[in-house]
Amino acid sequence: METIKDIFKIGYGPSSSHTMGPARAAKIFLNRNLDATTFKCILYGSLARTGKGHLTDYIIKKTFNNKPIEIIFDFDKTYNYHPNAMKFIAYQDHKKIDEWLVFSVGGGTLKELNEPRTLTDATIYPHHLMNDILKYTKDLKMGLDEYVEKYDEKDLDEYLLAILKQFKKTINQGLYASDILPGGLQVQRKAPLFYQKFLSNPTLELLTYTYALAMSEENASGNLVVTAPTCGSCGVVPAVILSYQKMNEVSDEKLIKALKVAGLIGNLAKTNASISGAEVGCQGEIGVACAMSAAAISYLKGASNEIIEYAAEIALEHHLGMTCDPVKGLVQIPCIERNAIAAMQANNASDYAILAGNKHNVTLDSVIEVMNETGHDLHTKYRETATGGLAIHQKK
Ligand code: SF4
Repeated sequence: METIKDIFKIGYGPSSSHTMGPARAAKIFLNRNLDATTFKCILYGSLARTGKGHLTDYIIKKTFNNKPIEIIFDFDKTYNYHPNAMKFIAYQDHKKIDEWLVFSVGGGTLKELNEPRTLTDATIYPHHLMNDILKYTKDLKMGLDEYVEKYDEKDLDEYLLAILKQFKKTINQGLYASDILPGGLQVQRKAPLFYQKFLSNPTLELLTYTYALAMSEENASGNLVVTAPTCGSCGVVPAVILSYQKMNEVSDEKLIKALKVAGLIGNLAKTNASISGAEVGCQGEIGVACAMSAAAISYLKGASNEIIEYAAEIALEHHLGMTCDPVKGLVQIPCIERNAIAAMQANNASDYAILAGNKHNVTLDSVIEVMNETGHDLHTKYRETATGGLAIHQKK
């Protein structure tokens, strides 16, 4: 597994795989072809299907600044390696000088064709299965947060403090923005309304909904957010841990430790399956975010490593099969509400695991494997192409 920094990345919404990844790719390609006079970018698969709604073309043009670039949407070709493919081509006086086929595989991460997803040059953890991590940490009497501290990059605390600050900043902005979300669906922001309700009736439930809505609505507006593990699912983790902090006076240091536990769960899903809606449907985004949050909140409540694993397993198991069918290709319906509901589900999964004790029949590793299989079995119309489900049955 690679660093958990890759799970939490600051960037502009609304989609880590459709805006953050393409923006990073465009920047890399531009920097290696500074002498080129014109460019072309061909979008394939899900990037072609939902690229308009997810602002892929907009972000690529923006990254190229004033350099001339033609964007082509190829709706026919899809690569088996991953559905989010893009090909950049650079020309100098009409002569092709460079070409790069690159994939945005979820959470803003880029890979080249057939690049391995499990063991890579950036692998820094010795284990890639939760069962092995549980055994290892049990033998050494080590918490999951300490496990991450042992193997991840040395400046992780500093990095996660910046992530925490951005969570708070974005949520705070979302609490006071009351405009209609862009894109034409006329979706009215709900976070300010929920916040008013919370102020007159301050409960954990209301605050959890409020924070999840604030973060997701900021994402839908194309503002600065943090992937957790993706932009589409960015509201779940911060809503769960920050509402708990507010109601229970938990320190930032403790939340950073909880983020390490959450990041570990996201990392296992990313390594052994996928966190890309275009590859495995929304179970890989909202389902994984819910599992990360259930693990984090269980950690904050003092649960053992085994209970944390159980809570994450429950949270993901009950999102298995969840499709990705965003209306108009925007990250709004069903995405925003889905963040709010999943945040509450994470709290429920944690409470359930703590009540039930650590004996359970299905492991997190098995559920991640099943998510991967189920996701690949989903028809492409349910994998971020906006050609099935709610995307075509939305009432006018
Ligand atoms: S439905 Fe889920 S996976 Fe699809 S765009 Fe929305 S949040 Fe992302």
